[in-house]
Amino acid sequence: MLQILRYVWAFPVTLLGMLTALVARGSGGTLQRVEGVLEVAGGWPARVLRRGFPFSGAVAALTLGHVVVGESLNALAETRVHERVHVRQFERWGVLLLVLYPLAGLVAWIRGGNPYHDNRFEREARTAALAVRGMPGQSRTV
Ligand SMILES: [Zn+2]
Repeated sequence: MLQILRYVWAFPVTLLGMLTALVARGSGGTLQRVEGVLEVAGGWPARVLRRGFPFSGAVAALTLGHVVVGESLNALAETRVHERVHVRQFERWGVLLLVLYPLAGLVAWIRGGNPYHDNRFEREARTAALAVRGMPGQSRTV
C-alpha cells in the first residue's frame, strides 16, 4: 500500500518523464523497466542530456519521478545507484522536489558553492553511489 502511495505522490513528475519517454521512443530511443522504474535511453532527449544544463554541463542521466532518462543503456547502468536516490527523493517530496531542488542549488550558491555539485540532493545521491560502489558516482549525473 505504501509503495502505491509513493507512485501516486510522484506521479505528476513521472508523467513528465513518460512524455519524455514517448519523445525518446518516437525518435529512436529505447525503453526498459528495471526494478519498478521506466528507463529511457537514446533518442532526442539523449541529445539534450549531451548538450547539458547550466551549472552541471552534460549529464549522463536525469530522473523525473519513476522515469530515468539516460543518454545510453550503458549510461543508465553506470548511474543506476545515483539515479535511484533521486527516485526515492521524488517518492519523498513528490512534485515539490521540482521547487526544492533549484532552491537547494540557490542555497549552495549563496554559501559559495556550486548550485549543482553542492546541492544537497546531489550530495545525497553521490554519497549513496559512493557507499555502494566505493567511487564518487557524481560524474555527469543529475
Ligand atoms: Zn544527481
